[in-house]
Amino acid sequence: MSPDSDTTCLGVRVRGIVQGVGFRPFVYRLAADTGLSGWVRNTSDGVQIEVEGPRRSTGLFLRKLREAAPPLSHIDEVTTEECPPRGFARFEIRESLFEEGKSQLVSPDIATCPACLEELLDATDRRHQYPFTNCTNCGPRFTIITDMPYDRSKTTMRSFAMCPECQAEYDDPLDRRFHAQPNACPVCGPSLSLLDAHGATVECADPLAQTSTLLKKGAIVAIKGLGGFLLACDATSPQAVRLLRERKQRPAKPFAIMVPDLEVAAQHCDVSEQESSLLASPAAPIVLARWKDSSSICHEVAPSLLYLGLMLPYTPLHHVLLRHCEMPLVMTSGNLSEEPIAAGNEEALRRLADIADYFLMHNRPIHSRYDDSVAMVVDGTVQMLRRARGYAPNPVALPFEAPRILATGAQTKNTFCLTRGHHAFVSQHIGDLDSVETLDHFEATILLYTKLFRAEPELVAHDLHPDYLSTRYAQDMSQRGLRTCAVQHHHAHIAACMVENGVTEPVIGVAFDGAGLGADGHIWGGEFLVCDFAAFRRVGRIEYLPLAGGDAATLRPYRTAVGYIMTLFGNGGLDRSPFLLGQLAEGEGDIIARQVGSGLNAPLCSSMGRLFDAVAAIAGLRHRIAYEGQAAVELEMAAHRHGGPAPTGRYAFQVDKTDGTYVLGVAPLLSAVLDDIHAGQPASLVAAAFHEAVAQMTADMCSRIAADSGIRTVALSGGIFQNRLLLHRVRALLGEAGLNVLLHTTLPSNDGCVSLGQAVVAAHAT
Ligand SMILES: [Zn+2]
Ligand SMILES: [Zn+2]
Ligand SMILES: [Zn+2]
Repeated sequence: MSPDSDTTCLGVRVRGIVQGVGFRPFVYRLAADTGLSGWVRNTSDGVQIEVEGPRRSTGLFLRKLREAAPPLSHIDEVTTEECPPRGFARFEIRESLFEEGKSQLVSPDIATCPACLEELLDATDRRHQYPFTNCTNCGPRFTIITDMPYDRSKTTMRSFAMCPECQAEYDDPLDRRFHAQPNACPVCGPSLSLLDAHGATVECADPLAQTSTLLKKGAIVAIKGLGGFLLACDATSPQAVRLLRERKQRPAKPFAIMVPDLEVAAQHCDVSEQESSLLASPAAPIVLARWKDSSSICHEVAPSLLYLGLMLPYTPLHHVLLRHCEMPLVMTSGNLSEEPIAAGNEEALRRLADIADYFLMHNRPIHSRYDDSVAMVVDGTVQMLRRARGYAPNPVALPFEAPRILATGAQTKNTFCLTRGHHAFVSQHIGDLDSVETLDHFEATILLYTKLFRAEPELVAHDLHPDYLSTRYAQDMSQRGLRTCAVQHHHAHIAACMVENGVTEPVIGVAFDGAGLGADGHIWGGEFLVCDFAAFRRVGRIEYLPLAGGDAATLRPYRTAVGYIMTLFGNGGLDRSPFLLGQLAEGEGDIIARQVGSGLNAPLCSSMGRLFDAVAAIAGLRHRIAYEGQAAVELEMAAHRHGGPAPTGRYAFQVDKTDGTYVLGVAPLLSAVLDDIHAGQPASLVAAAFHEAVAQMTADMCSRIAADSGIRTVALSGGIFQNRLLLHRVRALLGEAGLNVLLHTTLPSNDGCVSLGQAVVAAHAT
């Protein structure tokens, strides 16, 4: 056979995360290495290649294309077709092709890579200490992209013209910055400025060094990062942290800490190997790690907690700042209380003027707000608590083909979800939909995702709750002629957990959370379901108890406890509860008695979250909360302090079965809690015994339901499973019972997962 007759030409299309991750330079080098000619280009739905040469070489090219792909890329699909030989003289990178209607993936923002960090710290490098250094392996992506395909003209870097040196890097296929769209240097790229609280420029030679000086003096500085402004202060100074809490109106919710490297992280926390690699990963989330007693970080950062949220610098700006400061910094979202993070310069000056003393700004606009992600490791498994930077908008793979659905999510910890084909794009964490600012962020981000992923919805899924702003948004869309589908909150939780694990067969779903509207109009939250994507049966639940004052009880756990005790034991039950009696204002006991007696303003609920609240209040740990979940978190911390195995025995739920549904009575359990507290037992012992009782009840119920239904797989969801002690015990006990356990793999178990579940259920609703 002559060499010519062996020449073949292959057309190749690659889909997945293949733009903004150095894929074209990789293809260029691979073609050179394998001696092939042809071209590569970005298209609207991926990367398109033609390679020509000996058949053996094109085969090698195809194999290496998958095996040696750049670390940040993710190949979903490679399709090939033979074409007639074209006679290409060389290999080249061609202009991107825009194809209307096609969609492709968008890379999340990526933490500074080791090569860029080395340049940043090298006094002889032209990017020494330049806070916007990046390359094809790292830097901003999602937060600067205004449209696809990913080119500089469609990012917020479009106004920065590259200098000749940067342009040469950008044009050289063998350079690390070849086609790095945010490529920049001190000559041509974004720059910093330091402003005071009135917006006046602070004259200084080096804004980063000056910021560090101010932080050392106890100032609060708003620092513009990737997805918004973070508020920084000295984490070792109780005065600075208290001042930040006061101004931010955030009395107790823990703050995250940034430390320069893993070595310093280990001075403050016990960081496991797995936690270290998560901290140092390209996504670089905040990781909750066990706080050391010897840490110099003041306790005001995370009052009464045993775990600290740590993160490493993820932009060059942070790396340089932390090296100047030589102290750990509080780094918390630049907002007032629960509002969305401030992103624009003018906006930050306006919204954060009463919080920050100074503003460290830059002139690269942020196109989409993007909070820091939060994760923890439990028994070797990573669990997300908040999913944004570094993760969104990576899609969840669907084991079925979905129509284009918009699922509007829950009211708190909102995310929304857009589906297209086999992809579910779950938005970054949006927040609690109870302010105009958050609602604006929600709507703007829906429009952005619809545009980026070319996913104009045909169907809108939403929660059953009529008053959620996410539900109202969906109903507004129905008035524009779109079909809608209401999905029960806990069914959505379990469907999300299933689909993240690629499971399509029916499961036993355990959904424990604070509250979600049930199909019967009551408040659910301690639920055992048997379900698949299309439908669910409620096979078990905590007994219904009245929530005295509704939302007022959620904010004041002692009201929940008093209402439960009056309902279960009569007014005499309170005599056993020294801590609760002390909380009641004049006449408040009578009001609660009337509410639970009449049912007026006392909705019935089966919530596990409220049961945790009630026990925390009876144990004297927490009577009023300053942030959602505080009572449950402090009950968990008390249980950790107990150490050792917890006694159970009297701590048990009473199981009854009516009309095929298991109902879990809490009277024996609460009675035992009241007795122990009355007898002067420590709260830590009560907390530990309560956790053990919940874990044993959960495993016992799942065993019964498994025997009834023949289903051997249990999916766990709901914010209560962010409790690492409970998750550890439930998982262990279910394992001992021979049941297969599914946990969330991608999204948080809290209401951040609800939008995905809504989309999955809506896709299967008939
Ligand atoms: Zn880099
Ligand atoms: Zn430059
Ligand atoms: Zn929920």
